[in-house]
Parts: sequence; C-alpha cells; structure tokens
Amino acid sequence: MSQELATRYPLVLVPGMLGFVRLLLYPYWYGIVPALSQGGARVFAIQVSPLNSSEVRGEQLLAQIQQIMAQTGAARVNLIGHSQGSLTARYAAAKRPDWVASVTSVAGPNHGSELADYLQRRSPASSMRGRVLSLVLRAISALMTLLETGYRGAKLPVDIHASHHSLTTEGVALFNQQYPQGLPQTWGGQGPEQVNGVRYYSWSGTLQPGKTDRGANLFDGTNRSCRLFARTFVREAGQCDGMVGRYSSHLGQVIGDDYPLDHFDIINQSLGLVGKGADPVRLFVEHARRLKAAGV
Ligand code: CA
Repeated sequence: MSQELATRYPLVLVPGMLGFVRLLLYPYWYGIVPALSQGGARVFAIQVSPLNSSEVRGEQLLAQIQQIMAQTGAARVNLIGHSQGSLTARYAAAKRPDWVASVTSVAGPNHGSELADYLQRRSPASSMRGRVLSLVLRAISALMTLLETGYRGAKLPVDIHASHHSLTTEGVALFNQQYPQGLPQTWGGQGPEQVNGVRYYSWSGTLQPGKTDRGANLFDGTNRSCRLFARTFVREAGQCDGMVGRYSSHLGQVIGDDYPLDHFDIINQSLGLVGKGADPVRLFVEHARRLKAAGV
C-alpha cells in the first residue's frame, strides 16, 4: 500500500448539521475515506449530535478524540470538519490544543451562514413556520438515527434551537468571541497559520453558473437546493456555495475559496455527482499530502 498520505497523526473527519457516518451503507464522506486510506492515512469518520450547538458537539468530539488516541497510540489528531463540523473542531482545538495538531475547515460557516439568518428572520422558533421546521428537522434526525450504521455509541442529544443559533451570524459571532483561534483579523483575509501549536486551514467553493450547475450536478437535487438557498444571501450574494459565504468560510491558511463546488459537492455528494470538471476528492488527497509535509 502507498504511504504517500500516511500523516503522522490520524485524520478525524467531523460532519456538519444533520451529519452521519453511514446511512445504511451510504457514507457522508463519499469516496473520501477510501481515497485517503489507500494513500496510507489512518482515517476516522466520527459522529456527533446531528442537531446541537457547536459546544455540545465539540465536547462529544473531545471524548472521541481521547478514544482514538487510546486506540491508535497517537499523541494528537488532525481534525477536518465539514460545515458545522468546522466549528465543532475549532471548539475541541481551543479546549485541548495539546490533543489537536491541526484544524481544517471545509465549507465551514466560520462567520455564520446567511441561510441560517434568513430562516431565523422568516421562521423564528415561536412562529408556526418555525414550529413546523423544527418538527421536520426532528423527524429527519430521528429517521437518520434509525438508519445510521456507522456509529455505535450512546444516544446523542438533540437541541434544534441551539443547533440553529450555532449557525447564524449572531450565534457564530458569540462563539468566535470565546474561540477566536485561527480566525482572520479582517473580513476576507487569512487567519494565522498556527495558534497554540495547532495549524489552521480552510477551503470552500462557490456556485458558478455554467460549471456547478452542469455535468453530473444536472442529476443532483442537492445542487438545485443550493441554488435556491443562495437566493437568501445578501452580504455575499453571488459568492456562496448555497449555505456558506466565500469569506465567511475563511480560517487560518486559506487553501482556496472559489472552487466550483456547492455545499454538498465539496464532500463529493450526492453519490459523487458534482459539477463539470470538479474533483472534490482530490482536495482531500492534496491536503493529506500537505499535512504530512508539515510533519503532522
Ligand atoms: Ca452534487
């Protein structure tokens, strides 16, 4: 087996809101875990509460990091988070920088999601629309728990209000005051590459008409959803992946923020259906190579 992606510390993949490890046999990180494993990386796709605050999810992540370190004998781990998984990983690294060698944000709402802001304005928790949305999310989450085959731990708590608040611009601003590690000083800038011995990286994509809505994405309903969601963006109108804005995703060293990938393409969803010429798996492989070269 090739060892070109054999990073010093294991890679721990942290999913976003409504995330999972495997639904029946279907993986969240579609085609990504095998691509990394084939290069010799030790990879752990983990589960945290699909609907909860980044802090609660972060505490669950810390417990799992401890298990992975015990299991592998590794002294630290590299965290790679998609979407809210980025905030979850940032929390864990802020609390235990000695356990975390790097945090990588993949389409992470590190300054909030304008889609979450829109939903808060249009469907506040107390409104009928908000109550319906909350019921639908609870039902989806319950169904996903039934279908989950990749997670064998204790039942994970659900808090829909905390989950939503954790993703709004206002909610993330509060989070950022407490856990600012890796954030850029200026809007659209890069963050420090290292804080408390933890390396910080990010990448993200944007919707690009003629690219992201072509190719195999013509057959992917999640791309249509992203195009619809993108209409709720004001500050980063035309500069988002459907759920997260280009500059909102910045953390640490910005590897790229305008890949032609929507919010689901970036983890090779659904079923590897992505836009014309896009190759999201390659970004993970290149990143593992980058981490290995950095000695982590
Ligand atoms: Ca897609």
